[in-house]
Amino acid sequence: MSSEVARACALLAGAERVVVFTGAGVSAESGVPTFRGPGGLWKTFRPEQLATPEAFARDPRLVWEWYGWRRDLVAACRPNLAHVALARWMLCRSGVTLVTQNVDDLHERGAAEAALGLLREGRLRAAGARSPDADPEACRAAARDAAAVVPPVRLHGSLFHVRCTRCGERREHRGAVDASAEATLPRCVACGGLLRPDVVWFGEPLPERALEAAFAAAAAAQACLVIGTAGAVQPAAALVDEAAGAGAAVVVVDPGETAYDGMAEVRLLGAAGEVVPAILGGSGA
Ligand code: NAD
Ligand code: ZN
Repeated sequence: MSSEVARACALLAGAERVVVFTGAGVSAESGVPTFRGPGGLWKTFRPEQLATPEAFARDPRLVWEWYGWRRDLVAACRPNLAHVALARWMLCRSGVTLVTQNVDDLHERGAAEAALGLLREGRLRAAGARSPDADPEACRAAARDAAAVVPPVRLHGSLFHVRCTRCGERREHRGAVDASAEATLPRCVACGGLLRPDVVWFGEPLPERALEAAFAAAAAAQACLVIGTAGAVQPAAALVDEAAGAGAAVVVVDPGETAYDGMAEVRLLGAAGEVVPAILGGSGA
């Protein structure tokens, strides 16, 4: 184990409260492109041209077509070793708040996978799943329940949730979207209004409760683990400044440069799928 990895391990294991902050990089090895990396473009559009309220008002069909593509892309991806190791660690200890900027569902699916592994090892108890291999379906359901105990705080919403542009109703929405014409776009069951993806677009405010929960966790943390975010998107990016300002030791996992490199106590230059299991896997989890 390198001395930097050992330092990160010790800092995180010794902290009673930890805030983990993830960005697009944690999902890159699953095959979800980051906005700034290769594959970040769709057709000839930049995300900044599509992820805006103006773009949706101008051409909702085009924006839904892009989100349909992104949903299909994410649905075909699997959580990677970083998602699973992080969830396993969170399921085995207390005091960790996971805050994500990502709109994919890989943290949740990674948690279900981690919970399944722990159930099989007999390290997690779940009602109705005493014999995991005898009843795999019950075991998977128990794993999903266990995983729901460690949900991420989502600062930028979710690809798999929608919001009505007329009445504001929100709900989960995972089905296929027919974006062949404006008339076939998804509509609200309550009022017939046009539905939009429930994600935060450029220029929009962040969900207030999530923002409060995230910053409260940052202010109370003794360690802040940052994984795969350049730290360029505000106000989310200020979460790490909040934690560092309150005295948390910052650990950065990223193969590239980030806005946090100057304040990092430990900087681990590497891919999340390799580094995260190395720093969290050895802590008894
Ligand atoms: P970003 O694209 O600005 O930065 C990604 C960071 O990940 C970079 O610092 C890069 O060096 C790093 N990275 C690349 N591969 C990595 C790997 N294998 N392991 C660890 N790090 C790796 O992304 P951002 O800072 O999250 O901000 C962009 C915005 O775009 C966010 O608001 C986010 O909501 C959105 N976004 C989300 C997704 C997703 O949900 N998966 C994907 C693209 C963009
Ligand atoms: Zn409605």
